[in-house]
Amino acid sequence: TTHLVWFRNDLRITDNRALAAACADVDATVIAVFIATPGQWRRHDMAPRQAAFIYQHLLALQSSLAERGIPLYYQQCELFSDAVDWLKAFVAEHKVDALFYNNQYEINEVARDAALDKALSTELTLHRFDDSLLLPPGSVTTGEGGMYKVYTPFRRAFLQRLSESDTRSLAAPQARNNPYKGQSAPIKPFDYPQEEVGDDFPIGEEAARDRLRRFCRENVQDYLEQRDLPAIDGTSTLSPYLAIGVLSPRQCLNRLRAEHPHALEKTDGGAFGWLNELVWREFYRHLLVAWPHLCKHKPFIEWTDGVRWRDAPDDLKAWQAGKTGYPIVDAAMRQLNATGWMHNRLRMIVSSFLVKDLLIDWRSGERYFMSQLLDGDLAANNGGWQWGASTGTDAAPYFRIFNPTTQGERFDKQGRFIKAWVPELAEVPEKDIHHPHQWAEKQRRVLDYPHPIIDHARARKDTLAAFETAKSRA
Ligand code: FAD
Repeated sequence: TTHLVWFRNDLRITDNRALAAACADVDATVIAVFIATPGQWRRHDMAPRQAAFIYQHLLALQSSLAERGIPLYYQQCELFSDAVDWLKAFVAEHKVDALFYNNQYEINEVARDAALDKALSTELTLHRFDDSLLLPPGSVTTGEGGMYKVYTPFRRAFLQRLSESDTRSLAAPQARNNPYKGQSAPIKPFDYPQEEVGDDFPIGEEAARDRLRRFCRENVQDYLEQRDLPAIDGTSTLSPYLAIGVLSPRQCLNRLRAEHPHALEKTDGGAFGWLNELVWREFYRHLLVAWPHLCKHKPFIEWTDGVRWRDAPDDLKAWQAGKTGYPIVDAAMRQLNATGWMHNRLRMIVSSFLVKDLLIDWRSGERYFMSQLLDGDLAANNGGWQWGASTGTDAAPYFRIFNPTTQGERFDKQGRFIKAWVPELAEVPEKDIHHPHQWAEKQRRVLDYPHPIIDHARARKDTLAAFETAKSRA
């Protein structure tokens, strides 16, 4: 018998349910495949550096599978629909008896898999797994059986359910007794814009696991005090690995518990605080499955679609380039542009700035983030943007508007983060870093740094009015 594992968003051999199941029969011949779909990625605004991150991990995956006697085949198709056609021919050619894959939950991915299942269900056995989440979507429900719209009760139900579930991590498969004799061709670079990944995120499962181990051992206990301070490495920076499945959330949970056995009970501790973020990740994915229209650029709160956003391309460009004249916003955007990663507090600040100060449609920001992020993930990105824009479930109410200057003062008091990313402000003293032009005027100096492109107090009033008008019309 021949078992085929279709790798998608699960580029690892350890704790991979589909791979482990395919390898369970020691007599089966196991082969694997990955299909790149650059046309589809373009439609999803996937960042070139995320494609590069995937590519590097595919090379690593191919060699670790080869060591176990499993060839990884590679094919490039333009769209998901082409991938389905190609896979049909591939399973016939290789006389595949059973296909194994881990579920994806976004609307186009679900449609692709449904088409494939329909085409192949009579030809072979299909084995699908819920692998990228701690608990499958639809398994955490209210008393009435629906999905929660508010996070805190979701978390309560989630943790209860988690305590009753098997979340053990699975070992990587052993080398096969009957390794496949054929050769899989080297993986060619994708037909996608090329960009470097950068040194901040080393390639490979081991690198990801090392980072996880170090974080759980050395940083988790201080997570609550440090997680909001972008100048400190206080968070795990594991998101790029989780986003493409180089690491699983079960591995995160189990490592956390190994280092902090009481993580789940001690709810005011750093370990619980970190677990809480993993549960947010679950929440947004569960939401996407319960309300698939979230995949279609629709707000959760319908009336917010009536907000009259400003058409302000120059302001959007200034925000993208980190030239708004608000130091914390600019430093954050430059970090994103240079590295593909941004600290969570900063994601909240810059999304609020785009939507509530510039009154620009949150979907422009969501799209720009996707085009830059190494950890781009539809559910988390959409959830984060809709939260900040006050259009989502459990969102900040629309009248809660961050002041970008006081956010900077609170979370980067001495301007250490700002100075790391905005060299034009290098000479501004600590106490003036959040008001650089006021300082420059007093010093009779001219800074090579823009004046604020918008006045926060006025913008706040305009935004409140725009939301209130939309609400009153609904
Ligand atoms: P840690 O603090 O160490 O958290 C551990 C893990 O939990 C993260 O790696 C991530 O997988 C998950 N996580 C943490 N916070 C959140 C959250 N608020 N929502 C969902 N999952 C979370 N995260 C992405 O992975 N991809 C995105 O595209 C993305 N876009 C965002 C857009 C906006 C506007 C906002 C406000 C947040 C977004 N986030 C996104 C969530 C969060 O900012 C990042 O997951 C986090 O900053 C990653 O850093 P870390 O790995 O050090 O996180």
